[in-house]
Amino acid sequence: MTKNDKVLLIIIITITVLSFLVLYFLKLGRDEDKVAIIKVKGKVVQEIQLSRIKEDTTLSVDGLIGKAMIEVNKDGVRIIDAPCKDKICIHMNWAKHHSDSIICIPNQVVIEINEKKENFDVVTE
Ligand SMILES: [Zn+2]
Repeated sequence: MTKNDKVLLIIIITITVLSFLVLYFLKLGRDEDKVAIIKVKGKVVQEIQLSRIKEDTTLSVDGLIGKAMIEVNKDGVRIIDAPCKDKICIHMNWAKHHSDSIICIPNQVVIEINEKKENFDVVTE
């Protein structure tokens, strides 16, 4: 191996390691930037940045026919109580990943997991 070969090898190894690191942090960043968007009758009523949730939180949202109870933690969101008859939204369980959604048609409540678009504060009420 000449000196140049060694330099080349070191450069290749460095690039490989760096690209792994970049991919790792991109993936990590994506997870941290998850936002739960709660909509009632098509309008956004709350946007919650999940990475900022320190402990499990329960909040209520006024839907078309009544209050929906929503549980939020750093990993995801779910509806734990709803005034609808079918309770499909409760059975949908946790929405955790990007583009997951929970929909309650009778109550017109929609919860979507999205990626963070801009900076906004956590709304817990
Ligand atoms: Zn429902």
